[in-house]
Amino acid sequence: MKNEKAVVVFSGGQDSTTCLFWALKQFKEVEVVTFDYNQRHATEIECAKAIANEVGVRHHILNMDLLNQLAPNALTRNDIEIKDGENGGLPSTFVPGRNLVFLSFAAILASQVGAKHIITGVCETDFSGYPDCRDAFIKSLNVTLNLSMDQPFVIHTPLMWLNKAETWELADQLDVLDFVRENTLTCYDGIIGDGCGECPACVLRRKGYETYQQMRKESQQ
Ligand SMILES: [Zn+2]
Repeated sequence: MKNEKAVVVFSGGQDSTTCLFWALKQFKEVEVVTFDYNQRHATEIECAKAIANEVGVRHHILNMDLLNQLAPNALTRNDIEIKDGENGGLPSTFVPGRNLVFLSFAAILASQVGAKHIITGVCETDFSGYPDCRDAFIKSLNVTLNLSMDQPFVIHTPLMWLNKAETWELADQLDVLDFVRENTLTCYDGIIGDGCGECPACVLRRKGYETYQQMRKESQQ
């Protein structure tokens, strides 16, 4: 795959930044695509831009404002509070079919720039209720995209079976643990790096990091 080109779906968060570094190891040429759909914080786009710039990859930003029309929820409207799913329900940040839309646009972009590979940081392990993050969906979509454009796309999901601690481990294996920790944005309050420390995204991220540090200590003993 060393001679081939890839497009990474890129938000500037921990997961997609780890995927970006994974892709840079696998492919000759990598470009990233960020979807701008009036995120809770414009910081997210700025953060993605800064990382793409730092790493030196071509950055495409696609305006997906239409999602805002379709999904009035906490991610796209500032006046609705973010809550975790109750009773196993979907979190209030849920945009139905978001990954379906994003990956379809990523594939169109990939066909335009001559990329065969598409990388996404979706994950089934820390399953948060998003059906279009599941492996079965990704495989099904891969077939559909190839049929729709008569292209041999390959969708890669390096994080699909990793938990949060293992995602940190992957960043460490790629020698970018500190870079990912300091430059990515996960926090719902828009604070880069370790974030506010209190929102659900920060808590999940920190737990994963601490678990990974623990794993590392134990393996060194
Ligand atoms: Zn936070």
